[in-house]
Formats: sequence, structure tokens, C-alpha cells
Amino acid sequence: MKPCVFLDRDDTLIRNNTLPPPANPHPAWKPGDLSDPSRVELLPGALDACRLLRGAGFALVIITNQGCVARGSATIADVEAVNTRVGELLDDDAGGPLIDRFYYCPYHPQGNVPEYTREHELRKPAPGMLLAAKRDLDLDMDLSWLIGDAPRDCESGVNAGLDADRCLLIGEAGAFADVLAAARHVVERSA
Ligand SMILES: [Mg+2]
Repeated sequence: MKPCVFLDRDDTLIRNNTLPPPANPHPAWKPGDLSDPSRVELLPGALDACRLLRGAGFALVIITNQGCVARGSATIADVEAVNTRVGELLDDDAGGPLIDRFYYCPYHPQGNVPEYTREHELRKPAPGMLLAAKRDLDLDMDLSWLIGDAPRDCESGVNAGLDADRCLLIGEAGAFADVLAAARHVVERSA
């Protein structure tokens, strides 16, 4: 078993809510919807945070709600292309990938695409994505952490059995300015 740091994607690792609208937005486009991998932009500290955590022996798993699929402004292929780009940008010193696995939830209860319009156990704050990663990667949840910018990120961690003190909220509402500050805390507490 291996300890893990679960990472939210949007506005934790990459710029999201403050991205300007795309050139020809889908009618269902909302701020935060990201369907174009060329628009992926790491936030300051994201790469250093992932390298620090990997160096400390953690598996790194991204867990991201992508309700844009249910609303129709992005496809599964779009989400996977954006994830691929995030994975390319988050590399170790030798050019190898730092992210062990991506999980995303395409479902949303208020969607336009019937196939994906429903509440779902994968959708944060539900713990489905974390529990899938635990099973797939044989993770030690007692030693694992979560970093995100929204309260529902932290709730998904608690719902998956993580200690609440190990679910770190970043940004204006959080105890840590950014993902790198949170990562430093994780490494200090895990030494
Ligand atoms: Mg977020």
C-alpha cells in the first residue's frame, strides 16, 4: 500500500474560473468549462508542489468534477485531452509523468445530455473517485491527503475516510495560499 495525495484539478493545479471565454463558446458554456487542451495553464507552484510530493513518496491522483460533459459544452474526449495536457505539463526532472492517475466525473444533476444528467457516486462531494483510486492503486488511506480549492473537495476526502485534518483547503477561503503551501504542510507532517 502507498500513501497518496488526491489533487483537485481546476483552480488547484490549473487556471480555470478566471480563464476568458473561448473564441466560439458552446451555448451551454459556463465559466470554468475547459474543453481545449491548448488553454491549459499551470498555476504558480503547481509543478513544484507535485515534484515535492512525489519526492516525499506519495502517489498523485487527480480527481475532478467535469459537469461540462453533462451540460454539453465539452465531450469526454475533450476532458481526456485536457487531462493529457495537464499530465504532460506536470513532469519530473527527467520528463516522466508525476500524476499516477486521473479520475473525472462527467455527471451533473442539471445537464442537457441525458446520458450524463444525474447525480452520481463519482461526483464530489461523494467519495467515488477516491474510492476507485484506492482500489485501483492499493492506496493507504490512513496516510493519504487531499488538496483542493472548494469545500466539496475536502468533503469528498472525509467521505472517503480521510482524516479531516488531512483534507487541505487552499485559496481565499482556505488555510493555505496555494497548492505549494499545502504540499509543504503535507511533507512537514509526513516526515
Ligand atoms: Mg477546483
